[in-house]
Formats: sequence, C-alpha cells, structure tokens
Amino acid sequence: MSNRTPLLAGNWKMYKTTPEAVETAQRLVELVADSAGVDIMIAPVFTALDPVSRVVRNSRVALGAQNLYWEKEGAYTGEISADMLVSAGCQYVIIGHSERRQYFGETDETVNKKISAAITANLIPVFCIGETESERESGNTFSVLDKQVKDGLEGKVVDDLGSLVIAYEPVWAIGTGKTATSDQAQEAHKYIRSLIEGLFGTTLAESVRILYGGSVKPANVSELMAMPDIDGALVGGASLDADSFSKIVKFK
Ligand code: PEP
Repeated sequence: MSNRTPLLAGNWKMYKTTPEAVETAQRLVELVADSAGVDIMIAPVFTALDPVSRVVRNSRVALGAQNLYWEKEGAYTGEISADMLVSAGCQYVIIGHSERRQYFGETDETVNKKISAAITANLIPVFCIGETESERESGNTFSVLDKQVKDGLEGKVVDDLGSLVIAYEPVWAIGTGKTATSDQAQEAHKYIRSLIEGLFGTTLAESVRILYGGSVKPANVSELMAMPDIDGALVGGASLDADSFSKIVKFK
C-alpha cells in the first residue's frame, strides 16, 4: 500500500451554468463531508469558479481550473493567468487535457510553459498525458508517453515538482465509455512512474500521484484503484452528477 493520498478529481468541461455548478457543488459538499483519507477536486468552467469557491470553502472539496495561460497579465484576449485562478479560489489546474491538445492546438511545449506558470503561482498542476487509439494500435503507447512526459517537464527540477499530479488519460477512453482495463492502466502508470524516476529520482517517483482518466464510473473505480500505481481518477462525465461522483470518491 503506498502512502500517496488518493485524489478524485472532477473535470466538468464546458458544462453547467453558474447556478447549476453551485447547486452540484453544494450537493457534493454534503455527500462527501465524511470522506476522510482522500483529496477531492472539482474543476468547473471559469465563470463558475468564484461562486463555487464560496460553496466549497472549509469543505472536503478543493477547487481546480481546466486551463490557464502562462503569462502573468497582458493583451491576451480570452486568456486567464495562474494568479487570477488563485484569486478565484483555485488550488489545482488541469493542464494539457487531450481535448485542449486536440481542439485548441496545445503542444508539449505550451503544456511545459503552463506547468511552470502553475508551479510559480503555487497551483497544483494536473498534467494530462495519454495516447490515441491509433498510437496504441501501432504499438507506440510508451514512446508517446515518453515524449509527453519529457517535453512537458523539460527544464524542471525536482524541487519544482513536489505537488505535481499526472493524469494518464488514454484518448480512446475519454468520453467513449471504453475504459482501459485495470491491467492496461497499471502498465502505463508503472511506466510513467519509471520515467519520473529516471528523470527526477526515486523520492519524487514514489510520491507523485498518477491519476487514471477515461470513462471512470462508480462501477469500475474500485478495480482501478486497487492497482498499486493508480493513485486516483480524473473523471469527466460521471463527475457532473454529485451522487455519481460521490460514489467514485467513496470507492473503498
Ligand atoms: C476527462 O474529461 O478527463 C475524462 C476522463 O472524461 P470521461 O470520464 O467522461 O471519460
């Protein structure tokens, strides 16, 4: 059994108006009030961050954002900085989600800059990586993970990365209902941990939390969480409903 505290994180993507987000957060706060021994995070849309932060304050639930821009401020219409997220009550930020890589041109290089900006602002980066279906089918899963981890963390030193969270999200499993088997996920997580060990040493490799993401639901979370290198879940669809997400939080 590792001593890494499990993290169950909900990515609400572009769902929920502010009243809807507030209502779901209120219900979740009540449902997980007695959940000790796990960290819980929800990431609503930007416009709901501040109101949801008031709901989750002094609760078991922490607040995260779904993206940031690496500059501190300036003429960058439509963007938001790490300090702005902190001022809205965020402790976490999701970086490099596959939907951002696929639809908004994010690259390992922009992800790298965003991770640096998060660390500088004391936000916990949830650094997303994962292979596409064709990359898996052509036997390139490990080389894809290798490049994403190395390029995403290039230039960082071990002292920067104490809070780092990695989310392994096979793209073919996100929002598709297809979940990686627990053995497939464990194999990838073990590989990612070995990459971190090679780059930054054993202490960080043993403490870094690696979440699995891809169609996690109340019905499959326990089996995934039983794997030695799976330290939590990044959950999309099943986090939108407070009852279903609270069941995932209570996976034990
Ligand atoms: C996600 O958005 O990171 C995700 C894993 O989505 P889903 O759980 O819906 O597959």
